[in-house]
Amino acid sequence: MSENNALEILTGALTAGQIDTVDLTHTLDPDFPVIVLPPEFGQCARFRVEEVSRYDERGPAWYWRNFTCSEHTGTHFDAPIHWVSGKDLPNSSVDSIPTDAFVRPVCVLDCSKESAKDEDFLLTPKFIKNWEKVHGDVPGGAWVLMRTDWSKRSGAEYLNMREDGAHTPGPTGDAINYLIETRNIIGFGTETVGTDAGQSTHLSPPYPAHYLLHGANRYGLQCLANLDLLPATGAILVCPPLKIKNGSGSPLRVLALVARNTV
Ligand code: MN
Repeated sequence: MSENNALEILTGALTAGQIDTVDLTHTLDPDFPVIVLPPEFGQCARFRVEEVSRYDERGPAWYWRNFTCSEHTGTHFDAPIHWVSGKDLPNSSVDSIPTDAFVRPVCVLDCSKESAKDEDFLLTPKFIKNWEKVHGDVPGGAWVLMRTDWSKRSGAEYLNMREDGAHTPGPTGDAINYLIETRNIIGFGTETVGTDAGQSTHLSPPYPAHYLLHGANRYGLQCLANLDLLPATGAILVCPPLKIKNGSGSPLRVLALVARNTV
C-alpha cells in the first residue's frame, strides 16, 4: 500500500471498524411536521405514500410505492435558488451544485443547554468565537451545524407554534455573516424545521440564514437528528441531495463519518 494514498488510509480505517457512520436523518413519515407559513402563502406538503402493488394482483412478485412531498419535507437540503437573494446565482439549484459541497468536514456548535433554557435562543458571533477558543477556528469550506437537541422533540412541541408564530432557536445575521465572511463555510445546518429561528422574521435582515447563506451561494440543512452523537470537530459530513432539475432543495439522507472514540 502506498503511504500517501488518502483513500487507502480511509479504506483501511473503515475495514478495521475504526469509523462510525452516524445517521443524521429523520425517517420520511406522513406524521413528521413540516414548516407552516402564514395562511396567505403557499404551503409545504407533508410526505405521502401510496402503494402500487404488494405481491398481489397489481404486481404478483413485487412491492413498490409512489410518494409525494415538498422539496423541503423532512430532513432536507436548501439550495441557493430557494431564496430570492440567490435566484440569479450560477449553479444554485440542487442538480447544478458542485458535488464537492456534499462531502466536507463538519463542526458542531453545541447550543443544547442554551436552547433548553430559551426556546428563542440566538446563536451569536460571540458564542462562535468562544467555541473557537476551545476547538480552534472553523476551517474554511466546512459545514457548521447548530446542535439544539430540538430533534428530540416531536409533534406540536417540534414546531412550537404560538399565535405570534414559531418559537425555535437559530442564528443571528451577524453569526451567519461571521461564518461566511471570516470562516468561508460551505453551509449551515440545524435540527429545527428551518435554518432560521422561529421568530427570525423580526431580525435584520429577516430570515438572515436564508437571505445571507443563499445570497452568498452557500447551502442549508434542516431537520437534522443525532447531532449529540457527533464530536465538535473532526467528522466528515456526507449530504448529497436528490438531483432534481432546477430543484430548490431536496429531502436526503445525511451521514457523518466519525472516528471511533472521538466523542
Ligand atoms: Mn428548506
